[in-house]
Amino acid sequence: MRAAVERTIRWARECREQPRAPGQLVFGIIQGGCHATLREESARALVVLDFDGYAIGGVSVGEPEPDMLRAVELTEPFLPANKSRYVMGLGTPAQLVELVARGMDMFDCVLPTRVARNGTAVTTKGALCLKSAANKADFRPLEDGCECFACRNFSRAYLRHLFQSG
Ligand SMILES: [Zn+2]
Repeated sequence: MRAAVERTIRWARECREQPRAPGQLVFGIIQGGCHATLREESARALVVLDFDGYAIGGVSVGEPEPDMLRAVELTEPFLPANKSRYVMGLGTPAQLVELVARGMDMFDCVLPTRVARNGTAVTTKGALCLKSAANKADFRPLEDGCECFACRNFSRAYLRHLFQSG
């Protein structure tokens, strides 16, 4: 783990020297697993390089959720308040709330699109299984009152039809 942290810091220094396209931002990726010392060392070494933002890496790799949250908590105190904080590869809707509460700003996760491809919509009222026969003649939007493109243009019945017809 220490070798990987040191390698990432070396790469970050090399990356920092490279030319950028206009408007391009570059983030440092903090490693260190669930080790408090390595997370601190990794964060401090990358903050010195003055990146545009900081990513927390090495989470969303199959670790239990308490370990993921601990890795974020171990890292956050060393991140500059005026730079974006990005947690790589996370998370579920509930995890996003937990991560925002821990000072994180940015996320990326395949979960919403993966479940959507398989016929489930994520709504404020929970998961909505579009393939369900209950939606066959349900002409409401996915989410009442939502202004998104899907909710403004497609009913649950039409979305169910799309899944049924492949
Ligand atoms: Zn919507």
